[in-house]
Amino acid sequence: MFDKVLIANRGEIALRVLRACKELGIATVAVHSTADANAMHVRLADESVCIGPPSAAQSYLNIPSLLSACEITGADAVHPGYGFLSENARFAEILRAHGISFIGPSPEHIRIMGDKIEAKRTVSRLGIPVVPGSDGGVTSEEEALGLAAEIGYPVLIKAAAGGGGRGMKVARDQGELRGALSAARGEAKAAFGDDAVYIEKYLATPRHIEVQILGDGKGGAIHLGERDCSLQRRHQKVWEEAPSPGLNAAARADIGARVAGAVSGLGYSGAGTVEFLYEDGNFYFIEMNTRLQVEHPVTEMITGIDLVNEQIRVASGAPLTIAQEDVTITGHAIECRINAENPETFRPSPGRIEYYYAPGGLGVRVDSAIYPGYTVPPYYDSLIGKLIVAGKTRNECLMRLKRALGEFVVGGVETTIPLFQRLVQERDIMDGRYDIHWLEEFLARQTADQS
Ligand code: ADP
Repeated sequence: MFDKVLIANRGEIALRVLRACKELGIATVAVHSTADANAMHVRLADESVCIGPPSAAQSYLNIPSLLSACEITGADAVHPGYGFLSENARFAEILRAHGISFIGPSPEHIRIMGDKIEAKRTVSRLGIPVVPGSDGGVTSEEEALGLAAEIGYPVLIKAAAGGGGRGMKVARDQGELRGALSAARGEAKAAFGDDAVYIEKYLATPRHIEVQILGDGKGGAIHLGERDCSLQRRHQKVWEEAPSPGLNAAARADIGARVAGAVSGLGYSGAGTVEFLYEDGNFYFIEMNTRLQVEHPVTEMITGIDLVNEQIRVASGAPLTIAQEDVTITGHAIECRINAENPETFRPSPGRIEYYYAPGGLGVRVDSAIYPGYTVPPYYDSLIGKLIVAGKTRNECLMRLKRALGEFVVGGVETTIPLFQRLVQERDIMDGRYDIHWLEEFLARQTADQS
């Protein structure tokens, strides 16, 4: 097992990793920008190192600074959390070259899955169904028009290097496709430094369903069921739950087994998520995330498995603590992403937390790094906490969520708590009847009602 882990992240996820390390008896090193000197992850870590000025490019993404921090503190492993350098194959490689373990998969696996064209090809070979579309990248307009005619409109142009819901363009006919292709390439180049794009059938009413997996790096792999992350705004997840209200037991078992088989075929190591769109009883792979995800707690709540603990164990060469037959799914869990934003305009609302009261009680978990007097800096994403609630049934879970949201008080900054208070009262949400467009349509209706 590792002696000392450096956590190359901030906010709630840095705290989440720190907690897992402490429970394993591992010493922790926090890193922080000058803007985060008073952050909770810095206060709770055994040691901390300032790695640069506020801008993420100069701090949390600054590889030389992070390496120095490892050298100074003698850390023998790095946990990247999510975002920042978590899917940066180069970072994993550099750590390896310095004899420091990266708590995540191999650089090769990160690289394959980081190129969405390559990822689709790879999983398709391993028996996973993919969204119909181009076989590889698309460069010319004639090629794009020919393909779109074959798969049928509407189509979606996506960036091979895309992420965070950026760099996607829908084209409903030939005219739109002509304009969209060059625009998408330009945007992909600007955002990701790579102008490779590909074309996919645009699915009209799918759910977003993703399967959590753990691989031991030696060909062993298990799945921990699915999460439904269909409630999205601008392709960003807002509410996640497990199990999915839209899947039956047979479909669940089938996709789980197929994904675990593919991951085992890859010899994948650590935690990963295989994402699908699910429509009319069919699964279509969209991408694999080679890291811990924001929404991992809902899986932990229904399986009782500590995903970060397993990640750390596997990275240190230890076996997984559980076999597939030991994985049982009990009850239901929902996560709400609480952002420091105006709940109607979604404008970021950084600033000082004047007062704070987090809900509690049976089945309620709050993953957050804020505290009264803490100032939410304007430099990073606006997630300030996650409210995760579990119950024996989906209905109990919803009632508990409503209760917990009513107790949650954050003063000084605006938050998205009121949005969730509206959502839990919606018939479609209560019935579990929603697809990836539901939330955008709901928000559009709200805006229309007000004007
Ligand atoms: P990113 O890596 O940017 O998050 P994904 O490929 O994971 O991109 O897609 C993000 C979201 O975009 C999906 O959850 C879904 O809502 C939407 N999306 C992606 N591909 C399609 C598609 N072929 N048809 C319809 N919606 C899609």
